[in-house]
Amino acid sequence: MPRSDLRSTAPLDLEEVGARLRARREDLAARLGGFAKAPERGSGLGFGKRIGDGTIEAVSRMTDAGVGETLEPALDRVDRALAKLEDGTYGVCDGCGADIAPARLRFAPESVLCIACARAAR
Ligand SMILES: [Zn+2]
Repeated sequence: MPRSDLRSTAPLDLEEVGARLRARREDLAARLGGFAKAPERGSGLGFGKRIGDGTIEAVSRMTDAGVGETLEPALDRVDRALAKLEDGTYGVCDGCGADIAPARLRFAPESVLCIACARAAR
């Protein structure tokens, strides 16, 4: 995407936004799917060969769980943005009903809150 698009005040290309959101959704879903299956780390190693392997395994599971927790809300946001695209409310803040700045949507197409509401939600 050309850099000048970020400053453009032209209406958003909703088809492009939709394509970006679907690509992002696929990426997140793939990562979540990988998380849900089996831990990748250590899968090529034999189990029980060394004292301490169990500890490493437990720690890596905790780390993986942490990643999953941050990916799921991200996926929810993308889903919500896609739903808004479909019902025609894309670009309208879920919190206060104001228009979300197009520059914000270009930067983060999954935004469903205006900057003020997103700050307040933190
Ligand atoms: Zn708002």
